[in-house]
Amino acid sequence: MTEYDVIIVGGRVAGAGTALLLARAGHRVLVVDRCRRGSDTLSTHALMRPAVLQLQRWGLLDAVAAVTPAQQRVVFHYGDDRVTLDVSRSLYAPRRTVLDPIIATAAERAGATFRYGVDVRALLRDGTDRVIGVRLRDDGGRIVDVRAPVTVGADGRRSLVARDAGAAVTRAGTGAGASLYGYWTGIQAAGFEWCFRPGRSSGLIPTNDGRVCVFASVPAARFTAELRHDVPRGLHRILAETSAAVAARVAGGTQVERVRAYPGTAAWLRRPWGPGWALVGDAGYFKDPTTAHGITDAVRDAELLATALDRGLRGVVPMVDALARYERVRDELSIPLFEITDALAGFGWDLAEAQRLHVAMSHELQREVDALAALPLPRSAEFASA
Ligand SMILES: Cc1cc2nc3c(=O)[nH]c(=O)nc-3n(C[C@H](O)[C@H](O)[C@H](O)COP(=O)(O)OP(=O)(O)OC[C@H]3O[C@@H](n4cnc5c(N)ncnc54)[C@H](O)[C@@H]3O)c2cc1C
Repeated sequence: MTEYDVIIVGGRVAGAGTALLLARAGHRVLVVDRCRRGSDTLSTHALMRPAVLQLQRWGLLDAVAAVTPAQQRVVFHYGDDRVTLDVSRSLYAPRRTVLDPIIATAAERAGATFRYGVDVRALLRDGTDRVIGVRLRDDGGRIVDVRAPVTVGADGRRSLVARDAGAAVTRAGTGAGASLYGYWTGIQAAGFEWCFRPGRSSGLIPTNDGRVCVFASVPAARFTAELRHDVPRGLHRILAETSAAVAARVAGGTQVERVRAYPGTAAWLRRPWGPGWALVGDAGYFKDPTTAHGITDAVRDAELLATALDRGLRGVVPMVDALARYERVRDELSIPLFEITDALAGFGWDLAEAQRLHVAMSHELQREVDALAALPLPRSAEFASA
């Protein structure tokens, strides 16, 4: 008998979300992360409708809304034209320093154990090649083996678990945009504002502490050729190219954090499970940030995976069937948006095509909301008997 039922590598949105639901269902969960609790990560943080729904279903939305401004409006700037959408449910963009600890704290309250400053070095396997745990370097520098029936890789884009497990790529994208972003105060934003001109995009995302995240995106090749050596100037240049009005508003504000850059990576879907292991979040499914949907995927798939593992661990269905269903449902919900995101990230669109892709994206978000709303609520009693 091992001390834990599930070891989760990575304690941010995907890992903490999976831990929360498994712990609520009564499973013994260990989460390890090499980072500091509450630290930031390279990511903007606009939440799409399904992510807000997930936080509400998990009982965490009030904690987010207590410190994060609610957005009632999304404004799309297509060249000089403007399309304004008033949303029926408020949207939020909590910093990762806010969101990730809220989910982790809830998971700890449900009984999960979190250990930070712990670096997983390798997967452990038995004689049949089944994954049976991890070899890690703990926060005191000791190398320790920890065993469990299931190891989950929620360890992000450069996932060691995916690599060590040999998770096959089942779909690969081609588009890759680079993103540059920083934080300003003293900027009026009408809500989430997204600006598009052929070959570039930019926008404003209001967030915690009166700050606004100002971002810009271009094809990865342009970033490498032109912008990477002076990222702050690159951000201002793309802002000015995309929307003079938004650039002027930013110029009137005060920059309060350095500008960061993400150079761009093409998307992938990986097979997210095998004997003794599973993947969730970016580790199993990554796509370009242009559709601001990675956190949404992470909290959606955390629930799909936790449900599968719960059913497998309790013996309701064989684990392989539970995990095969997880992959099927994840892919069914993901592939249309994977393709839309890839087309947007390729920057081959004109403004009419960008609008068409955004309308298609909106339909996909609604489909996702409907699918999530139909799942049994993950409160321990109902969830464990589902
Ligand atoms: C520039 C940019 C902008 C983005 N903007 C948005 C947005 O606006 N909205 C949105 O929804 N999504 C956005 N995304 C996507 C979003 O950031 C990711 O989808 C999300 O962070 C995935 O969460 P995760 O929990 O899977 O992985 P991560 O957040 O990457 O967390 C993985 C964790 O695993 C830990 N880890 C990794 N390896 C090990 C190891 N060997 N041992 C121990 N710990 C380990 C890391 O320390 C890390 O804390 C953006 C991404 C980028 C790059």
